[in-house]
Amino acid sequence: MGTVPPSGPASACPVGCPIAGRIGTMSAPEFPDTTPDAAIQRETPPLALLLDVDGPIASPVSRRVSPGIIADLLALATAGIPVIFNTGRSDEFIRTQVMEPMIAAGMPRGTVVHAICEKGAVWFSYTADGPNEVAVDDTLAVPAAYGDAVRSLVAESFSAQMFFDETKVAMVSVEQHIGVDNADYLAVQPDFDARAFELMGEHGLGAIHLDSRAPDADGAVSFRIDPTIISTDIESVLLGKDLGASRAVELLAAQGITPTAWRTVGDSRTDYAMAEWLNQRGHVVEHVDVRPADGIPSTKYRVRTAADLGLGPEVIHDDAGAAFLRSWRQALGI
Ligand SMILES: [Mg+2]
Repeated sequence: MGTVPPSGPASACPVGCPIAGRIGTMSAPEFPDTTPDAAIQRETPPLALLLDVDGPIASPVSRRVSPGIIADLLALATAGIPVIFNTGRSDEFIRTQVMEPMIAAGMPRGTVVHAICEKGAVWFSYTADGPNEVAVDDTLAVPAAYGDAVRSLVAESFSAQMFFDETKVAMVSVEQHIGVDNADYLAVQPDFDARAFELMGEHGLGAIHLDSRAPDADGAVSFRIDPTIISTDIESVLLGKDLGASRAVELLAAQGITPTAWRTVGDSRTDYAMAEWLNQRGHVVEHVDVRPADGIPSTKYRVRTAADLGLGPEVIHDDAGAAFLRSWRQALGI
């Protein structure tokens, strides 16, 4: 896991060109930086931010990002602090919920933000002019026929509580309706997960779901059914926040940027994989857990929570994420 494909040549597609289709290798973003008011690009920034989105940035209740968080992300990115999203969400979600509000808030020319979506299967970068081409690693996609079967399953049996996320291109994700009570969703989620797991076998696919493991005819387990508090993600076992971290380092390296230190931020145990990956490769990293109710594991790197900012245990999710973004602005004098 977590291997980085070799960097491809710099993309010939300038900012704002049409989406060029699916490619399987990392492409370096190419953003002309010719205007006198261009944002700062630091080759060795004191911090780089690698951010899970659902939870620390977007509210898990409204699924939206507060204007204050947009303003702080923009200030940090404009000052040359790399801001990189590492999410299970689709590229469309990031474009509408994060990119468009940042541009609307006045993103200076030359500011580049990277987004790694679908747990590392999809990635793109954006400036004030919009996104560059979206890259998709098709080798990490769930077979389309299986996705169609899950879409039908949701329509036939679970449409009152959940919806099929049509914006995903590599993963299959089924999410709680915003208007449904979370307890009502969680009451039926195990039934959905069990049926999705059975469908894997019916399609000849090997899968793992919590403690259940069902290999394919060759003995392989290539897919994972991963329930979260508001969704179930069905994905290649090669996807994960560690893959996203490797892509983040590659995207910055393609710009000639080597951060002095990293801050990773998440609300789930799986988000620690970002800091694990960075720490194991010798990067200086601290992890921020904005929902430490699951307990904090023993790690080789420092883990911070809202309590480190003097805040109470009720400050979680995007409230905690906002507090940390603000603390970094203050510490860096931005
Ligand atoms: Mg999250």
